[in-house]
Amino acid sequence: MDNNLWEEVLKLAEHRLSPQIVQTWLRPLRIADMRGDIITIEAPNRFYKNWVEDKYLDVIKKIFLEEYNIQSDVQIILGTAQAVKHEQSQEVAVKPQHSILNNSTNLNKQYTFENFVVGASNQFPHAAALAVAEGYFQTYNPLFIYGGVGLGKTHLMHAIGNKILEKFPKLKILYISSEAFTNEMIYALKSKTMDLFREKYRNIDLLLFDDVQFLAGKTRSTEEFFYTFNSLYDLQKQIVLTSDKEPNEIPDLEERLRSRFSWGLVADIQPPSIDEKVAIILKRSEIMNIHISNEVAHFLAENLKGDNIRDLIGALIRLNAFSTFHNEPITIDLAKRSLEKFIIKKDIIVTPDSIINAVCSYFNVKQQELKSKNRSRIISYPRQVAMYLLREKLNLSLQDIANIFGGRNHSTVLHSIKEIQNKLQSDTELKSIINTLTRNIYK
Ligand code: ADP
Ligand code: MG
Repeated sequence: MDNNLWEEVLKLAEHRLSPQIVQTWLRPLRIADMRGDIITIEAPNRFYKNWVEDKYLDVIKKIFLEEYNIQSDVQIILGTAQAVKHEQSQEVAVKPQHSILNNSTNLNKQYTFENFVVGASNQFPHAAALAVAEGYFQTYNPLFIYGGVGLGKTHLMHAIGNKILEKFPKLKILYISSEAFTNEMIYALKSKTMDLFREKYRNIDLLLFDDVQFLAGKTRSTEEFFYTFNSLYDLQKQIVLTSDKEPNEIPDLEERLRSRFSWGLVADIQPPSIDEKVAIILKRSEIMNIHISNEVAHFLAENLKGDNIRDLIGALIRLNAFSTFHNEPITIDLAKRSLEKFIIKKDIIVTPDSIINAVCSYFNVKQQELKSKNRSRIISYPRQVAMYLLREKLNLSLQDIANIFGGRNHSTVLHSIKEIQNKLQSDTELKSIINTLTRNIYK
């Protein structure tokens, strides 16, 4: 099994547990199998197996789900493969490590600018992030990046931190999500250590504050963040924020905080184009050592549902696992088989004929009649509906529609369409007829 994935999972786990816990308990394990809906992880002995099952299984599951969108059960079995490596890793583990709470930056080393694919959808936030990372601190303060789920906001934020850390190792950098901030604050309140909490947050050179929208509605933590923000800002420290919405659209957030978010630079990140998706798949494959052709990358980019890059990467990992188990190279055919659930059903092509057929069978009239000059209501009503649908669904010109119906005057067509449009304002029966017909057309 390709254990690059496990390496990645470990990195992500460091973030959620601590580097020390990961080193001691998780590094000796490895992924043995990823068939179907079960991920099998091998532990070097019973002691590790029981301990990890008790304490860290949920975190591992969460990482697969939240980072890769892989909703699998995780089971731990006994194996020996890593026993030797494990002894080496224990040596590392006994090295003294600083407490993660005070000294860690929380940065994920995988999320770098080098690993970030730039395209039209994210060019601006990328450039802004790079500028901050190059040390243009006060110029864009705060930097506020917003956009939909899984589009790379968190990645960019870590990239800033990693780059600054590399250039200025002495700067105090902290990445924190608004949820973690809230939890820490609650803990500090309970344990009467608010002084320490404040000292920690007001003594930072670069604050990377993720998913600020989760502060909405939480009065106490919003207030605490407000003071943190002000004191860092006054000291000319850099603040980077992310959110799923632009500042003015975050509901239930105090106005004074919202307005501050727009003081610096606000940059939005858009869903990726097909080409960008291809580039991201290829980049990620390279990092994870997955062999995939341009053709398959294109197929995935075009056919996977949604624009969430996290889902895209999850699909790539699934595909790779599938290929390993079946011992088959990654092909379009394999992708179709392994990712069935995630692939879009290709749009059904709607033609004038499919609309006319649907109308005829619904009203039980013949095509000939529909296209004739027969003015009886049993025929003219379905005819009007058909004209309306041709205009609405295919955007045909009045003349094209007139031609379909045996060369009528196009003003007659216009009149028919207008009539249906007017009736639709109040006629609920007609509304439901149109809905049913629409469903039938796309079936
Ligand atoms: P968000 O914070 O916007 O929800 P993330 O930053 O967590 O999204 O990104 C989700 C996943 O997609 C991560 O694994 C990230 O590395 C990857 N990703 C997002 N955008 C890009 C990109 N432009 N190039 C490479 N990987 C990307
Ligand atoms: Mg995020």
